[in-house]
Amino acid sequence: MDTIKLGDVEITRVVERHGGFGPLHTLVPGTPDPAPGWLVPDHHDPATGVMIAAAQTWVLRSAGRTILVDTGVGNDRVRPNPLFNGWQTDFLERLTDIVDPGDVDVVVNTHVHADHVGWNTHNLGGEWTPTFPNAAYLIPRADEEHFRGSAVHDDSVAPILAAGLATLWDTSFRIDENLELEAAPGHTPGSALLRLRSGTDRAVFVGDMVHSPYQLTDPLCNSMFCLDQGQARATRRRVLGRAADERELVVPAHFAGHGAVEVKENGDGFAISGWAGFQSISS
Ligand SMILES: [Zn+2]
Repeated sequence: MDTIKLGDVEITRVVERHGGFGPLHTLVPGTPDPAPGWLVPDHHDPATGVMIAAAQTWVLRSAGRTILVDTGVGNDRVRPNPLFNGWQTDFLERLTDIVDPGDVDVVVNTHVHADHVGWNTHNLGGEWTPTFPNAAYLIPRADEEHFRGSAVHDDSVAPILAAGLATLWDTSFRIDENLELEAAPGHTPGSALLRLRSGTDRAVFVGDMVHSPYQLTDPLCNSMFCLDQGQARATRRRVLGRAADERELVVPAHFAGHGAVEVKENGDGFAISGWAGFQSISS
């Protein structure tokens, strides 16, 4: 198990898949060319130009319950983006080694993109069926509305709504004494943060607010997937500023390597002051 503890909360990393996710300068267009050497080897492969990243789920044990943060891409998906099309992994078996799907209490989707809601459901005899039948799925209402009618919504969100398992939330949502969701629009209209506060420890799960660690050093640098470019920049600057002030561990959805970082103010951006204690993954 790849687990750290912050206050009373255990955080376990379950990687669905890691490796090359496409050309860094396409995915995160503002990165310098050539890319900074410190991104090598965990986050960038200079030989191929691809960004090294991960699809992963964070499993939290908090206040006696089990909470999943984001559910990856999923198996059997037909997606126009070749990056996410047709995945077949043993993610669910590896997750089940840690928690039985029936024992998951809460599922958090930081937003409704294909690589964050995939394992919300699984293909059971041709039907998209909730993977975690006893969980409350917390889905940002703005994204549920924005992506309604898309293939991703049809196979990964609509079955959750139909099963009566979804809780749609707006500005903020408290999960327990340690965990609270907060709206952080920009990347998508409903993009959310999950703040962890336990004892003196702090973390903030930021979803797709950053894809490459380079964006920490230049918070104006968006990914190609940020729908509202100006709002995405403002949110990134604000959230990282607070993370530096309050010493929150920043936990993005897709970092490979050690997965999460501490940051400090550095000129117009931030510098990495430390990495989390998760085992490093790279290509
Ligand atoms: Zn993503």
